[in-house]
Amino acid sequence: MTGPQVDEARFAETQHTVKVSALRGRPLDDDRCATCYYYLDPTDDISFCWHEKLQILVGDNWWCHFWEMRDDD
Ligand code: SF4
Repeated sequence: MTGPQVDEARFAETQHTVKVSALRGRPLDDDRCATCYYYLDPTDDISFCWHEKLQILVGDNWWCHFWEMRDDD
């Protein structure tokens, strides 16, 4: 069996994204991706975050520093 095959450039890019956004896999109090303005489809448990600093798939219970209240709630 071979070990993990990591694309170093993408790994570094991902680490940078996490660092600048303080992205985490848990909500902060009641704030989470599913209630964030930038979470593309709030009915999905994973969805695209379209914030310019992220542009990645995230989970509905994740949170980051750029969280903003959805304006359709
Ligand atoms: S901006 Fe942050 S909190 Fe909002 S959806 Fe994207 S990763 Fe989640």
